Amino acid sequence: MSTIPDKNPTQGTRRWKRWVVGLARLGLIAAAMACLWYHRHDENLDLNACLKAAQEVYPDATSLGDPQEGWFPLVSASTELLGWVTTTNPQAEQIQGYSGPSELLVVVDPQRCVKKVRFWKSSDTAGHVESVRRDSFFWNQWIGRSEASLGNYESPQLVSGASLTSEAMARGLAARFGAQGLAENFTRDLSLDEVKAWFPKATSLQKTDRSGCWEVREAEQRLGFVLRSSRMSVAVRGFNGASDILVAIDSTSSTVLGISLADTRDNEPYITDVRDELRFTNGFAGVSIRDLIASSDHTDFLLVSGASTTARAVWTTAQEMLRRHTLEKEAKAFPWRLSLGMTWLAMGVWLGFRGGKKSRGLFAACSVVAGLTLGWMVGQDQLLGWGRNGWSSLPALPILTMTAIALVIPAFTGKNVYCSRICPHGAAQTLAGMAIKKRWALPAKLHHTLSFFPWLTLLLIWGLALAGAGLPFAHAEPFEVWSTGFYALLPAAIFTLGLIMAFFLPQGYCHYGCPTGALLKFLTHSPGRWTRRDGIAATLVGIAWLASLL
Ligand code: SF4
Repeated sequence: MSTIPDKNPTQGTRRWKRWVVGLARLGLIAAAMACLWYHRHDENLDLNACLKAAQEVYPDATSLGDPQEGWFPLVSASTELLGWVTTTNPQAEQIQGYSGPSELLVVVDPQRCVKKVRFWKSSDTAGHVESVRRDSFFWNQWIGRSEASLGNYESPQLVSGASLTSEAMARGLAARFGAQGLAENFTRDLSLDEVKAWFPKATSLQKTDRSGCWEVREAEQRLGFVLRSSRMSVAVRGFNGASDILVAIDSTSSTVLGISLADTRDNEPYITDVRDELRFTNGFAGVSIRDLIASSDHTDFLLVSGASTTARAVWTTAQEMLRRHTLEKEAKAFPWRLSLGMTWLAMGVWLGFRGGKKSRGLFAACSVVAGLTLGWMVGQDQLLGWGRNGWSSLPALPILTMTAIALVIPAFTGKNVYCSRICPHGAAQTLAGMAIKKRWALPAKLHHTLSFFPWLTLLLIWGLALAGAGLPFAHAEPFEVWSTGFYALLPAAIFTLGLIMAFFLPQGYCHYGCPTGALLKFLTHSPGRWTRRDGIAATLVGIAWLASLL
């Protein structure tokens, strides 16, 4: 006769306690981050600083005129219009890099061609921002481009080692000039009648998976494609307003069939002149997409006298739409880097639970390689940045996943898989420790005293951040060196000393220096038991909230 094993009631209770206490500890971290969020403040654009920055391009500019659609005219002493200046906020405010958004400043000439794009301000991690600031190729990539083409964010040149930050900046710039506003302006749907001029036999329009692209069909047969600028994040601004442009291309996506103005906020009579020429002369018909993208003058296709600004805007917009349409296939290619990074994280978690000693050295080497190539890390500066600025999950998905692994798994399981397997700096120390057989151990008293250091550093960092100190907290840890190199003295010194120490003192930096390690120890200590440490943490977070509310 088979027996049903007794359920051990204490096991279930223990599990529940562990979950409740883990949740409470994560809640304390979230409450501290929320306190930072509560303290955040928006700065208005400093117009004097803006003028000063624009004077790097136009030294004769003496004042800024009244803004138009976010652009400030740069005016000389003799009231001559020299150019325009704007910044990427508020559109870029929601776009997060490694740990916060960035704002750029853009100066264009009177013809609306970019003269300069420069850094304005950032809440992102200091090392990444610094790497981007130093990269002249990144900043020069926009020079000479028309305003209409600035909505592009699909193939910007990014800064290696600071790709999340530079990508966020490029995306912020694109958002500033992107289709969001346009899409709101031009809300009506595309109709079949609008494409009949190029596809008289068309019976249906089907949205494709490419942005702003519809397939035109006659029953089951594909006739060609139509691209719509307002749905492709391409901003076209003519003499005095935005337009929504359609570009028809053949079924092989190699030749343009024609271009039309679907809708516009631009001025008459310019717009009627351009619209009529597009309709009756159709200078774009039969031009290969490659030739149109490579063309350098709008008069090769449009000869509208007296409406050159609008005609140029139509041409540059069509160029940009076709360039993106062509590149989108590449952009949709399989993301190898992301996939390998995610596989590394998944393996780290698995080995953190199941791995034995044998796999330790091999996976530590993997983590070091991943750290050097991906630069993904969890650090205090990043948590503080997310607290202050919030985050949008898409651009920082790998970092969010890594942070979730670092924080959530220890809180609920008591296992610190991030430190034991994933952290590249911890892995480098593991390898250093394996290189030399002889190990030192500090005298018990010294060990005990030094063990407080990570906790004190953690308290100091969060205390200063909550007090509103605008310090580069990333400098308190060595992690940015992995992605940005030895750019700042303090992280470089912590990095170097920590690794040298690891040859003699196993995981020396982890034990006696790392504030992130201390935070993770806080999550793993005494699973399922509310301790004195929890009480202290809850009191400190409570004091921070009280101070911010009073
Ligand atoms: S203690 Fe710090 S350096 Fe060490 S493994 Fe953990 S996070 Fe990395």
